[in-house]
Amino acid sequence: MFSDDEGWAMALAIHKLAETGSKEYESSKILEDLLEKEGFTVERGYSGIPTAFRATKYLGSPGPTVAFLAEYDALPGVGHACGHNIIAVAAVLAALKTSRTAHHGSVAVYGTPDEEGSGEFAGSKILLAEKNCFAGVDAALMTHPGTSWSLGSPSLAVQDLRVTFKGYASHEAASPEKGVSALDAAILTYTAVNMMRQHVRRDMNVVIHGVIREGGQASNVTPDKAVLVYGLRSSDSDYLEELIKKFRLIVQGCSLATNASYTIDMIGPMFSSTKFSFELMKAGEEALRSLGIEPKSLAESTAEIPKGSTDFANISQRVPSLEITSKIAPEGTPWHSEMSARAASSEEGRVALRIASDALSKVAQRLLDEPAFLQRVKLEFEGRK
Ligand SMILES: [Zn+2]
Repeated sequence: MFSDDEGWAMALAIHKLAETGSKEYESSKILEDLLEKEGFTVERGYSGIPTAFRATKYLGSPGPTVAFLAEYDALPGVGHACGHNIIAVAAVLAALKTSRTAHHGSVAVYGTPDEEGSGEFAGSKILLAEKNCFAGVDAALMTHPGTSWSLGSPSLAVQDLRVTFKGYASHEAASPEKGVSALDAAILTYTAVNMMRQHVRRDMNVVIHGVIREGGQASNVTPDKAVLVYGLRSSDSDYLEELIKKFRLIVQGCSLATNASYTIDMIGPMFSSTKFSFELMKAGEEALRSLGIEPKSLAESTAEIPKGSTDFANISQRVPSLEITSKIAPEGTPWHSEMSARAASSEEGRVALRIASDALSKVAQRLLDEPAFLQRVKLEFEGRK
């Protein structure tokens, strides 16, 4: 029987491989091979993504399906500084533990590459969700390492976009009247977007970050091309859509003002904000307590100001989902740093892996074997409770 200690050895092996997004060939293979050996049906290269997989096991009598989400991409330069090696093995261990204790339905492990977005299949959970790969899943569970035990970290919806203005080049002294400056359009846009900041909802955690990537070549030639790249974020996916509409109007207006034409391209898919399942969070809280861990209160953790974005959020909008943050480093440890990379292979990481996988499997077991609990989770998700 695959043990917690063997799981930790596997987490260390993945930590050492430190494969970056969309290139997690060895890491995904280690997980796939183990799941296959443990009697799971494994689909490798799932949904056309070489390092994605889906592994499923039927527990012997009809019932729901609970999915555990694995991530295993490292960060360029700093390795496993987000602790995804622990996420990967926690998902697999939780699935194995659940398959030994639960009696109904199926357990699944989804291998979801490139959460950090450094490769071809950036934010693969969104790509999988959009292809309906989570149809038939009743709940999705995962853990993410961090600096405290908590449930329900809020995240920001984000859309990256690129604006390209096209003008007309001309001699800036001899025939400036013939020139159309794409740079002027870009500067106006940059200024107008800054003005927009004052007139957005204060409760929606709006974050706007942008740069001018191209703005001309020589001072005596009218810049005929300018490129801006922006990230727009909000704690509410619907409000982000509104922000994008406002942004489009600004670009349109600046195009009219300067006579430069424009295109707006979305860079990658939109990351949603996280939809909480309080039923699942309460069950996770109970599970952690039974393992001797007192997590942050739900009131405290869900009220935190969201700092980042995650592709897990897009799944949480489709199926009831739970992410347990597991403590592998002291409060205040900078993330995506050498310190967090060390934490992901530390003694605290080993303990967190065991506790997180136990807690996830306790929640899963209830979802599979306690129909009334699953019913409550579903009613809450559908807003009928
Ligand atoms: Zn991460």
